[in-house]
Amino acid sequence: MTAPTPRPGILDIAPYVPGRDTADGGARVFKLSSNESPLGPSEKARAAYIAAADDLVRYPDGGCWALREALAARHGLNVDNIICGNGSDELLTLMAHTFLTHGDEAIHSQYGFLMYPVIIRAAGAKPVVAPETNLRADVDAILERVTEKTKLVFLANPNNPTGSYLSMEEVRRLHAGLPEHVVLVLDAAYAEYVKRNDYEAGIELVSQNANVVMTRTFSKAYGLAGLRVGWLYGPAGIIDALNRVRGPFNVSVAAQAAAVAAVEDAAHLNAAVEHNDVWLPWLTKELRALGLEVTDSVGNFLLIHFPDEDGKRAPEAERFLSHRGLILRGMKEYGFENALRVSIGPEEANRLLVAALAEFLGAA
Ligand code: PMP
Repeated sequence: MTAPTPRPGILDIAPYVPGRDTADGGARVFKLSSNESPLGPSEKARAAYIAAADDLVRYPDGGCWALREALAARHGLNVDNIICGNGSDELLTLMAHTFLTHGDEAIHSQYGFLMYPVIIRAAGAKPVVAPETNLRADVDAILERVTEKTKLVFLANPNNPTGSYLSMEEVRRLHAGLPEHVVLVLDAAYAEYVKRNDYEAGIELVSQNANVVMTRTFSKAYGLAGLRVGWLYGPAGIIDALNRVRGPFNVSVAAQAAAVAAVEDAAHLNAAVEHNDVWLPWLTKELRALGLEVTDSVGNFLLIHFPDEDGKRAPEAERFLSHRGLILRGMKEYGFENALRVSIGPEEANRLLVAALAEFLGAA
């Protein structure tokens, strides 16, 4: 007897490792490993989720009408150009399954979000890595790797885990250099946090072109990671193809209800962004004052590089912090042996982290 064998390429996938959620000690535990919102979801979203319990006998609205209308109104978009998904992960995966087949290539940058190689391989295609320059995606390096086999380019903007971003001008240059048959996937999971005049999530670029899509999520600034809701804005032809491939009821009743309420609660979203506006620069400054190298970030997280000295490296720091109830994200899978990523937490966690790292670096 021969055992069932997955399609070629499936067993080459390095399984995605999510952020840890347990600590080794600490009076209170702060999970700072998955870029979740320290403010949690809107109370209105929570109430809508609970009220949805009365509707569980029914299938969800497969077209996600109310949510798409709320998003269209909020962002000034045409409702027909939006598709919702079970997290933006599902939409990125759908893009891969809809556009890639065996023999195709898809490009992502060196430190791009780790799911890209997973979903490209899962679709039977080959991930092509474009090196980064100074921990930023490099437009020329991406364009140099385009061949007739390339079907998709994934760009996280801002990128996780570096926190760096490309200006809209650079994204436009990237798009302008792509052949028309290549789709540029702008993954804007952290767009809500970015306060830079030269940044745009990609709405205009999508509106003007047949080969650009933008994905967004409710998991970060909206504080609804547990519900799994994301959305994609794209040209009609691509939306039509994705709708054929997706499951008919891919976003649950409760997820749709909570997400609609979340979109309508602009005050809560603003509060989450304002919290980040205060604590992202604070933490960057304090960590640098300890002598640590921190990559400039426009997201809700920071990449911290540790000294290359015995007792002071990232794995030791991760263990030390874990004993104090602070869960950070090891970056080995991304190729950063000596860095940790930390999500911006509540004030108490941010202050605890700085105090704990001062102790770690001083005592080690
Ligand atoms: N893109 C990026 C860059 C991310 O960091 C994440 C979450 N880690 C996602 C997409 C997926 O988010 P979700 O599926 O929760 O919408």
